[in-house]
Amino acid sequence: MLKNGRLARHIIGAAWSELVRQLEYKAVLYGREVVRIDPWFPSSKRCSNCGEKVDEMPLSVRVWNCEACRALHDRDVNAALNILAAGQVARDVATSHARGGVGKTESRHTAAIRTK
Ligand SMILES: [Zn+2]
Repeated sequence: MLKNGRLARHIIGAAWSELVRQLEYKAVLYGREVVRIDPWFPSSKRCSNCGEKVDEMPLSVRVWNCEACRALHDRDVNAALNILAAGQVARDVATSHARGGVGKTESRHTAAIRTK
């Protein structure tokens, strides 16, 4: 079934849509918030400690050292920390835009990425 590329994309798209629907449903139920981030955000390639980004990171690399700060990262934990930080920044930007203060948020955006 997954050999049919078009059908496979529909199945994967439907599964992803259902996952997002469930997350949004549970978030409302438990008073949480789901924040969408850029799907191309380099969560695995960016050091969650200092913000340094590596150019290449094959999927086979599960643990790596940041060349800038020497932090040791588990690929998935590092990505999770980066996604959390990006989500918090996206939420803060949305909140700031709702209040009409764009400039102040941009500096917090940079700080949030670098401090994680
Ligand atoms: Zn680093």
